Parts: sequence; C-alpha cells; structure tokens
Amino acid sequence: MSSSPFETPPESVDCVVIGAGVVGLAVARALALAGREVIVVEAAEGIGTETSSRNSEVIHAGIYYPKGSLMARTCVEGRHLLYAYCAEHGVPHLNCGKLIVATNEAESEKLTEIKGRAEANGVEGMRLLGAAEAMAMEPNLHCTAALLSPRTGIVDSHSYMLALQGDAEGRGAMFAFHSPVKRGRVVEGGVEIEVGGAEPMKLRCRLVVNSAGLHAPGLAQKIAGLPSDRIPPAYYAKGNYFTLAGRSPFSRLIYPVPVPGGLGVHITVDLGGQAKFGPDVEWIPNIDYTVDPHRADKFYAAVRRYWPDLKDGALQPGYAGIRPKIVPQGAPAQDFTIQGPADHGVTGLINLFGIESPGLTASLALAERVRDIAAA
Ligand SMILES: Cc1cc2nc3c(=O)[nH]c(=O)nc-3n(C[C@H](O)[C@H](O)[C@H](O)COP(=O)(O)OP(=O)(O)OC[C@H]3O[C@@H](n4cnc5c(N)ncnc54)[C@H](O)[C@@H]3O)c2cc1C
Repeated sequence: MSSSPFETPPESVDCVVIGAGVVGLAVARALALAGREVIVVEAAEGIGTETSSRNSEVIHAGIYYPKGSLMARTCVEGRHLLYAYCAEHGVPHLNCGKLIVATNEAESEKLTEIKGRAEANGVEGMRLLGAAEAMAMEPNLHCTAALLSPRTGIVDSHSYMLALQGDAEGRGAMFAFHSPVKRGRVVEGGVEIEVGGAEPMKLRCRLVVNSAGLHAPGLAQKIAGLPSDRIPPAYYAKGNYFTLAGRSPFSRLIYPVPVPGGLGVHITVDLGGQAKFGPDVEWIPNIDYTVDPHRADKFYAAVRRYWPDLKDGALQPGYAGIRPKIVPQGAPAQDFTIQGPADHGVTGLINLFGIESPGLTASLALAERVRDIAAA
C-alpha cells in the first residue's frame, strides 16, 4: 500500500489559491480575469470564515501607515478600487467619514502629526477641527480637537466577498471547500500540494498562492524546498469587540489617537446603524476567539474619554478577530509581506504574510500585485 499520496501521479493545474478569505478571493478573481485557470482550496465550509468575517468592516483611508510602505500604498489604491467595485457590483457600503479625536493637549498635537502622515500617503480631504466644530458634527462627542477623514467608510464585507467569488467563478475559477492543504513540495516548474479533507487530492501547480491568513507561515513551513529562513514566525494579537444595545450615538466612525499594536478602542457603525466598540489588543499564544466579559471594564474607561454618556451595563461581549502578526509584541510595526520567486527563489510560489488591517480595504490592490508577480 502506498504510504505517501505523492506516490500517485498528481493532477496538473495552472493556479491554486490557498484560502478563501477576502484576499484569497480577490487574488482568485484577479488571476481568473487575467485568463488563468484557478482553483481555490479552502479548509472551511465556505468563504470568509476567519479574519475576513471578524473585523471592523471599515474602508480605511490610508492614514496611519509609514509613507511608501506596502500598507500605505495598497490601502490608498485599494480604497479607490473598493469604492468603485462596490458601486459597480451593488455591494452595500457607505462613505460615512471618520473623526480621530483627541481628549487632551498631548493628543491634540498628535493629530497634526497624523494629518501630515495621511497627506504624505496621498489621503485626500483630511481636516483638523476644533472641539466646537467636531462636537457640532457629533453632539454626543467629547473632545479637545479632532481630525476629520472624509474618505473613510464601511462595507458589508460578506456581500463584497460573495461578489468576488461570483466574479471569479464567472471567469471559470473553481472552489473546493472542506479542502485543507496539508503540505507541499517544490518541483520542477512549480509546486505540488497535497489536499486533505473528504476528497483528498494531489495537485501539481504552475502557481500556488499561499493566502492562508493566520496559517500562512505554518503552511509555508510545510512546503519542502522553500528556504526556511524566508518564512516569518506567526504571532497572534486578538482584537475583542463589545456591542452596544440600540442605535449608534454617532453618525461617523469615532477613533481615539492610536495605541501601540492597534488603532485604539474605536466606535464603528455597521450598515444597519448598530454600533460596535473595539478592537482592543490582546497578544495570545494560540488561536482563540472567546471574548472575556471582564475586558469590558477597560472598554468603558477607554470609550468614556470621548463618549462620557456611555451607561453602565450598555456593553455586551461581541466577537473577536485575530491579527496575523509576523513580529512579536513590542517590535516595530510590520508591513504586508508579499513574497514571490525573486524573494525566496522558488518558481511558482507566492506567499502572503502578515495581512492584517487594512487588508480588507487593500484586497483589490494586493490582488493586482500578486497577479503581476505571477505574470513576471
Ligand atoms: C480585529 C481586526 C479588525 C480588522 N479591521 C479591518 C478593517 O476595519 N478594515 C480593513 O481593511 N481590514 C481590517 N482588518 C484586516 C482584514 O480583516 C484582514 O486583512 C483580511 O480579512 C485578511 O484576509 P485573508 O484572506 O488574508 O485571511 P483570512 O480571512 O483569515 O482567510 C484565510 C483563509 O485561509 C483558509 N486556510 C487556512 N489554512 C488553510 C489550509 N491549510 N488549507 C486551505 N485553507 C486554509 C482559512 O480557513 C481562511 O478561510 C482587521 C483585522 C482584524 C484581526
């Protein structure tokens, strides 16, 4: 009896995208539109069950990221592409705008710095507001100054992912769910992968795109022949959310001045007018989506700095998402990492590492980069 599935001949395919999160879906669509044969293999039962359905659903303007970083460039490009895509495909979204609020003098000074960085990144329309103007726009707000980001918005991420899947399928892409990729190996002219699940298969691929989110570094380690020094470690920074019963007290998104590791406990609104608070930053050793109700205490304190009227007992534990970090707590912020053959020396393999926020906003721009690397 055969001890390794690699002993039976594999089926040959052009491109395999591993992972049907928002980034894998955008990549599959871009490759299919470029005329490539695409199979998406996804471990879960459907699209977007991990980080892509556990985020704030904010269309970020591109404010915070270091100038010239991949995050800065793909966020701004991706935002333009995403608004246009949503409009064309009837994906529910709203360009509601956002206020970054200062609650003391030191934070007020920080707003000028944030505005400068945003403008260096090509973000349009940023405007500093005095306390009176900001509080006239949002009567429930308490602040000493604010920075208006008119280009920020929200999107129904699941509708967006369904549209991407539909586009990809319309161009011939195929989807295999319940299909976890177990391992792979570098072969001449590409990569061979072994897929488990109900219908195990072996595929010999001209191109493999590892878009497995939190699992991308672990999966890369299982590709024999990929130099291990090119694979970053995986760290997890959980973001917990709490929800508010009743309608949002604000019509725009309200963010504090950022904190290390995240953007601070902010208020976002969904398209139904429901408010959620978060995400905070909780470094964890393993993937665990439980929200500890005791964390609410810190949320009350953080939110009351800019919304003093938040009532005791108003916050309910919501959900959590996990940032796929590739640098440990305390290290300088990471950038998105797209590794192609020029980076790791393996033909036909593209790894996507550390695609945390603003990955939803940047998804279409990231997909274009992957498509271009694949075509090179
Ligand atoms: C708390 C939080 C808030 C965020 N808020 C925002 C926001 O407001 N705006 C924004 O732009 N971005 C935001 N982001 C970032 C955004 O959510 C992510 O960048 C994006 O969802 C990443 O998508 P992905 O496709 O790379 O990963 P995922 O959505 O995690 O998809 C990876 C997929 O790979 C599959 N998979 C894993 N291993 C295997 C395997 N071996 N075989 C087959 N399939 C596999 C998984 O099942 C999963 O479906 C946020 C992130 C977090 C954590």
